[in-house]
Amino acid sequence: ARHSSAASHPQRLAGKVAVITGGASGIGKSTAAEFVRNGARVILADVQDDLGHAVAAELGRDAACYTRCDVTDEAQVAAVINLAVARHGRLDVVFNNAGISGDLTPAPIGSLDMDDFDRVMAVNARAVVAGVKHAARVMVPRRRGGSIICTASTAGVMGGVAMAPYSVAKMAVVGLVRAVAGELARSGVRVNAISPHYIPTPLVMGAMATWFPATGADELRRIVEKDMNEMDGQVLEPEDVARAALYLASDESKYVNGHNLVVDGGFTVS
Ligand code: NAD
Repeated sequence: ARHSSAASHPQRLAGKVAVITGGASGIGKSTAAEFVRNGARVILADVQDDLGHAVAAELGRDAACYTRCDVTDEAQVAAVINLAVARHGRLDVVFNNAGISGDLTPAPIGSLDMDDFDRVMAVNARAVVAGVKHAARVMVPRRRGGSIICTASTAGVMGGVAMAPYSVAKMAVVGLVRAVAGELARSGVRVNAISPHYIPTPLVMGAMATWFPATGADELRRIVEKDMNEMDGQVLEPEDVARAALYLASDESKYVNGHNLVVDGGFTVS
């Protein structure tokens, strides 16, 4: 095992280079910190420039940089993947994590807004396909392996009331991972999904505000942390997802491929 001399913290991603989309906030931001703590250099890709630059600065200029990338534009996805190789000479991990909730105002399927469906699919599904495509385009010919991780959701495992676009997109992510894992395995590249349950990130808190319009922010957070997660006394946090991503990114999971790692305290099976 490799250890940093300073903190004697195990460096599970020593020397590795990772691209993290949605890296300015929530799960992506937390994962960036976990990866850097474990010796990786990260490129944060997002559309929230101020937040992205702030996260990169916090992580330190040697370890992290931010670049604007709207993942719905394939050329920008290709560019951020290329940037990793141009800047660091390698690419080991791509975390396709950027996502939006879409309009989660409870509404019957008979009045589904197809434009909202298209928006959710563009970010949460099509952009993930582009992320996997361009990660593979670079990783496969380099013949150094690699780990591609895509953020799905428990909504992509079990569905969700009034969440058809989001659920469809997240199920597509799980389907994508299963569709390409066998092909990529022949090149030593792995692709896996992570499916978290509710965490009070800005994405979820925005959706909560539409579900419970007259409820204050503190009460909404309590509802997410206590009522929507059924682990007694335990709260799901971005760090829990970050540690799952760390495992999938590291060589410790070298034989884990095409898997959907559900991080939900047992919610979807109970
Ligand atoms: P978040 O809002 O904190 O982070 C999402 C990030 O994605 C934001 O920084 C946002 O700017 C970025 N993003 C959105 N559209 C983008 C685009 N077109 N191009 C580039 N970046 C874009 O929310 P989060 O909860 O950390 O979400 C991260 C992922 O986790 C998403 O895919 C989300 O669907 C998924 N997820 C979240 C939860 C939860 O409860 N929070 C549960 C399951 C899955």
